[in-house]
Amino acid sequence: MKIETIAIHAANHVDPSSKAVIQPIVLSTTFERAADGTYPGGHIYSRASNPNRTLLENVLAKLEGGADAAAFASGNAAGMAVFQSLPVGTHIIAPDDMYHGLRNQLKNLFAGILTFDFIDINDSDILQKQIKPETGLIWIETPSNPLLKITDIKKVVAIARQQNIMVACDNTFSTPICQQPLALGADLVMHSSTKYFGGHSDLMGGVLITKEKNEKWAKIRQVQEMGGAIPSPMDCYMLARSIKTLPYRVRGHVQNAQLLAEFLEKHPKVEKVMYPGLPSHPQHQIAKEQMSGFGGMLSFCVKGGPEEAKRVINSLKLFTQATSLGGVESLIEHRASVEGPDTKTPFNLLRVSVGLEHIDDLIDDLSIALG
Ligand SMILES: *Cc1c(COP(=O)(O)O)cnc(C)c1O
Repeated sequence: MKIETIAIHAANHVDPSSKAVIQPIVLSTTFERAADGTYPGGHIYSRASNPNRTLLENVLAKLEGGADAAAFASGNAAGMAVFQSLPVGTHIIAPDDMYHGLRNQLKNLFAGILTFDFIDINDSDILQKQIKPETGLIWIETPSNPLLKITDIKKVVAIARQQNIMVACDNTFSTPICQQPLALGADLVMHSSTKYFGGHSDLMGGVLITKEKNEKWAKIRQVQEMGGAIPSPMDCYMLARSIKTLPYRVRGHVQNAQLLAEFLEKHPKVEKVMYPGLPSHPQHQIAKEQMSGFGGMLSFCVKGGPEEAKRVINSLKLFTQATSLGGVESLIEHRASVEGPDTKTPFNLLRVSVGLEHIDDLIDDLSIALG
């Protein structure tokens, strides 16, 4: 089946008791046992599994072409489950512009438990040199946040394979509509489903999808069940509902982002545009090979420094100045001030989550704000 069909049908089962076409939200925390002690409904207790979560996990696994998926209460909880599943002392290699929330998680919560290096993962020499006997995980994020750097997934996988190191890819910016890391050799995919999967800036969630149901995955499932950072049935329901339109929404985001990037690149007040769909992007070729769409996120640097960048952002009418991404409405943010004092993000950089408004209105708004 094609991805549009999977998105709609994988989470749609007529409810056997009520014949409801859409799965009811099952709020019950506990499920009845049969006389022989078994659980004929397949569920015992909602921390371990719940009908809404099971259906959601089923559709997520299918969308990424994986063997199984696990849903969490947030993207950070999903990332944390991966780190918690690793034996004490494991060494992690992560990108130097890793999503700041997960980088801070490693630094603040896992120091002394795991070791990690944040490096330029695209440089094969640097990557090879960082690999130690205790390296157990290479974490990648492509396109990266907020610099939109592309990591060559196949190249990293080829290096990791030689040493039997797990490769996990944060696929939040791409979604499975634009990029399928498991098909390119990665072992694990992570998403903040708060973003494009949810798509309406009204729910938090995170997911992990595995290529194989192996021992490492069993450990992650244990973290999910025993740690209990699970999404509510309501959130699972909303996510399954949103996913039905994911392929069409993402295509709209991609189309608008490409046009907006092209407009910005030609604008005299813009110093630089970072979008993998532009031929000027340093890794445009790799992006073309591993992505089927370039995503809905872009960043640009304004001429005139941080003061001018702030003036632009405050002059916009349609773009809301807020963090996060992937919703139908366009958001813009001065990224360096969100990331805190140790940020390497340029101070004149603005990050845009391009929404699904009409592109002419978006361009008009930016055009007036830039002056
Ligand atoms: C938002 C985000 C996360 C964290 O997800 P939450 O749902 O906010 O916990 C991780 N990675 C990327 C790339 C993100 O954009």
